[in-house]
Amino acid sequence: MQKVDVVVVGGGIAGLTAAIYAAKAGKQTVVIEKQNRLGGRAVSNKKKGAYFNLGAHALYQGDAYATFRELGLTLQGKQPSAFAYGIWKGKLSTLPSDMKSLFTTPLLSWKGKMEFASCLMKLSKADTRQFDRISVREWVEGNLRDPMVRHIFYSLLRTASFVVGPDLPAAGPALRQLQNALKGALYLDRGWGELIEELHKKASGLGVRFLTNTKVSSIDIRGGIVRQVLCEDGAQIDTHYVILATAPSIAHKLVPFAEKTALHTWKEQAIEVTAACLDVALKRLSKPKQQFAYGIDQTVFLTNQSRAAHLSDDGAQVISLIKYQGKDTDPDKDLQELEGVLDLMQPGWREELTVKQYLPKITVCHDFMHMKRLENPGPAVPEIQGLYVAGEWASHGEVLADAATASAKRAIQHMLSLEGKERNAYYEHRGII
Ligand SMILES: Cc1cc2nc3c(=O)[nH]c(=O)nc-3n(C[C@H](O)[C@H](O)[C@H](O)COP(=O)(O)OP(=O)(O)OC[C@H]3O[C@@H](n4cnc5c(N)ncnc54)[C@H](O)[C@@H]3O)c2cc1C
Repeated sequence: MQKVDVVVVGGGIAGLTAAIYAAKAGKQTVVIEKQNRLGGRAVSNKKKGAYFNLGAHALYQGDAYATFRELGLTLQGKQPSAFAYGIWKGKLSTLPSDMKSLFTTPLLSWKGKMEFASCLMKLSKADTRQFDRISVREWVEGNLRDPMVRHIFYSLLRTASFVVGPDLPAAGPALRQLQNALKGALYLDRGWGELIEELHKKASGLGVRFLTNTKVSSIDIRGGIVRQVLCEDGAQIDTHYVILATAPSIAHKLVPFAEKTALHTWKEQAIEVTAACLDVALKRLSKPKQQFAYGIDQTVFLTNQSRAAHLSDDGAQVISLIKYQGKDTDPDKDLQELEGVLDLMQPGWREELTVKQYLPKITVCHDFMHMKRLENPGPAVPEIQGLYVAGEWASHGEVLADAATASAKRAIQHMLSLEGKERNAYYEHRGII
């Protein structure tokens, strides 16, 4: 493997998607992944017969879903019921999820119920691009009057974006994610690891080659043009195109003189979002109705993904809890809070526990469309011919896995569109806000 057309650095969803589209265009492609397995943050771990993702993962009806369908992936799983509880002042109340719960929820006054229903109806048809330059708070306060309707929308938009504070995230992407969620999210059988397996098979079938357990140490660039990829084990691969499907900080580190390129701006402007995730497998549920809850005055979320997906070999129920984190985090306090939510939803759960997984602080996204962003990253690094970025942080208005697939496709599209053209055409697709 001395020379290939395209080297993809990173074998997560973005890297695998980029590799597939490059190979589909006839490019000889190799994916280099530093871990011993593919998938990045979309892997699943099997523990005592239960499949755990790295925290709750749902496939919304956005770019990732459309891309995977286009690629012919089977995506086995189901949409869960939307019947939900809200946690408010330490108590559970039904949230409006259909006509019956809208009329019976004790959380909203009559006026609030009308406002909530009319806002959801308007939102389902709205062109959310018009809200890309205002914050979630500006959107909520400009569009909603009832204080409890505002609280519920803050909670729904937090779940959509994983971002705790409403002043940072741009409203448009968060609202689009909510629109996609309202169309129905998919919980995948055996977790997102199955999705990675399918992407891997698809890529291999198209001739993509994989180097796992191999860490890229730098990209050799001469005369402003990508020449070679260098790996820690001494491997050197000549190539014309490199897609950096890694975190922005890693992309920056791999490129000599990155501080003189747009990679520097993208790294500096990035705001990381993290969460604490507790996943448990329970032999049975003490409260079978209580499977889905949004924190309203707590930044938490609970879902029993087993109500829609096959996630255990022995019938255990796999419940995922998330604590959305701000800047300061405390792993013990977060765990205590999440266990408190389980006590509320499934009292006596400890006696039913077969296995658990606690991730005290995992990166959900390295960056997102926020109010302090100077420009949308990628697809091309404009100063270096043949260099691209992809990943959920290289969002041009998409969120999470949707941004991973969309940015990967943008990179390949841009690469193909420039073949044989002048290099300053690199600036063409740069997403300036
Ligand atoms: C708790 C949690 C919940 C989530 N929930 C959802 C959800 O409900 N819906 C949704 O759409 N998304 C969700 N996501 C987000 C989703 O998991 C990510 O957007 C997606 O997996 C990111 O893929 P990626 O390819 O951009 O990055 P990664 O998966 O991080 O891939 C990057 C890869 O690059 C590799 N790498 C890094 N440096 C090097 C190097 N030097 N050499 C070689 N390889 C290298 C890494 O090992 C890694 O495998 C969630 C994420 C988390 C953590």
